[in-house]
Amino acid sequence: MTISPEREAALLASVPTGLLINGQWRDAASGRTMEVHDPATGEVLLSIADGGSEDALAALDSAAAAQAGWARTAPRVRAEILRKAFELVTARAEDFALLMTLEMGKPLAEARGEVAYGAEFLRWYSEETVRDYGRYLTSPEGKNKILVQRKPVGPCLLITPWNFPLAMATRKVGPAIAAGCTMVLKPAKLTPLTSQLFAATMMEAGLPAGVLNVVSGSSAAAISAPILADSRLRKVSFTGSTEVGKRLMKDATDNVLRTSMELGGNAPFIVFADADLDKAVDGAMAAKMRNMGEACTAANRFLVQESIAAEFTAKFAVKMGALATGRGTEAGAQVGPMIDEKARAGIHTLVTAAVDAGATVLAGGAPVEGPGWFYQPTVLANVPNDADILGQEIFGPVAPVTTFTDEDDAARIANATEYGLASYLYSRDFSRLLRMSEKLEFGMVGFNAGVISNAAAPFGGVKHSGLGREGGAEGIAEYTTTQYIGIADPYEV
Ligand code: NAD
Repeated sequence: MTISPEREAALLASVPTGLLINGQWRDAASGRTMEVHDPATGEVLLSIADGGSEDALAALDSAAAAQAGWARTAPRVRAEILRKAFELVTARAEDFALLMTLEMGKPLAEARGEVAYGAEFLRWYSEETVRDYGRYLTSPEGKNKILVQRKPVGPCLLITPWNFPLAMATRKVGPAIAAGCTMVLKPAKLTPLTSQLFAATMMEAGLPAGVLNVVSGSSAAAISAPILADSRLRKVSFTGSTEVGKRLMKDATDNVLRTSMELGGNAPFIVFADADLDKAVDGAMAAKMRNMGEACTAANRFLVQESIAAEFTAKFAVKMGALATGRGTEAGAQVGPMIDEKARAGIHTLVTAAVDAGATVLAGGAPVEGPGWFYQPTVLANVPNDADILGQEIFGPVAPVTTFTDEDDAARIANATEYGLASYLYSRDFSRLLRMSEKLEFGMVGFNAGVISNAAAPFGGVKHSGLGREGGAEGIAEYTTTQYIGIADPYEV
């Protein structure tokens, strides 16, 4: 059912427009505001406070002041706040989904999927809060005792991208709260509204003032630079492009900050001739088209064993070509717009260059005329191995297909990238899957699965795809520091 304009207006009117600092929503110190647009129409959705350096430092003041008290809060109290937040986000799933569709463009069904996924981080970390174990042991010499405890790392700066406005926030805020850290969240300027509503929900769940501060703004560096330069900050957790991540890692050296970096990807989707072909095509659709291809885990290169390449590609092209583009609030829309004009132009440049280099267009291949930044779901066959489109993150609904001969050839092609985030394997031979996993230089491998993100699993990459893990037991460890207490032989004192 298409969403009515009245429903959209009522939801937007409920979104806080200020900066959240020490439990209060306030205007930017400069008095400036910034507009947030609908990528499907180009129209302004809402104007919100445009935070800058002064606001960033006020937010850090608030987080630093709240840190000691928050660290002492009973784990059960933190757990119950997270549980309450999970329940509130779930109860408001339709509001969160519609808000993400409006500011980011993904169809409502996708946005609902993200709400469920994003809320899981709140539930998972509510459960992990009370299980953040240390250890106690006797030293190997048999005399002294070793006590190891985990403590919150301290105030954190959390920087999130525009593509998953809710899940990228909950994946950081959830474990930070669980570990007892306070934080400043800086959402992407293109999609800050979901974080605004999420922060309001966290306050309603009982989060004390100062634990979560939110500073949106049009200049990311104006917000991050003064915070990173301040020795009260102890950690930066970033999800976004490799380019910006590298810059932030350099900025983080002066204060020797803990860093978690969830950066770009170039996922290979590898199909062996013994795979169930129809399941592989369905998996390819999911791995490529989740979030319209605007995902770090999106299958970026399809490597198909030579003997089945033509059949696989033909079936895949039929399904891709049948997808309907449209504003995400419209009934029947399966593929929303790209986030902005620049993103769409970049995608088209890659497609055009691949075609010039000899690739064949089996579906799509062009922008969609009219308002919004829509791009046709596209399948390219016979893509030369040195084409730019295979080396760069496409971040759109475009699937380049190339071929391989055997396992070693597949692994060699798959690993020929500086990235190492997600990878996908389709085969009926489990031993082959295990052999391939050993060869693949990727933080994550999907076996006959096109979507692998899960709050209970450690998400993250190797090489230029980043450092650290989000989700799972590893996710909370990123927000704790280890303290060792050496205890003299209790029989000698
Ligand atoms: P981006 O790097 O442009 O921006 C990410 C965030 O960093 C935004 O909040 C932005 O405002 C901020 N930022 C930009 N410049 C900054 C600076 N100089 N100092 C401080 N902050 C700055 O990335 P994006 O376009 O928003 O997101 C897409 C990228 O994110 C893709 O590369 C994608 O692969 C990656 N991503 C990775 C993961 C993962 O978990 N590995 C998940 C989602 C997205």
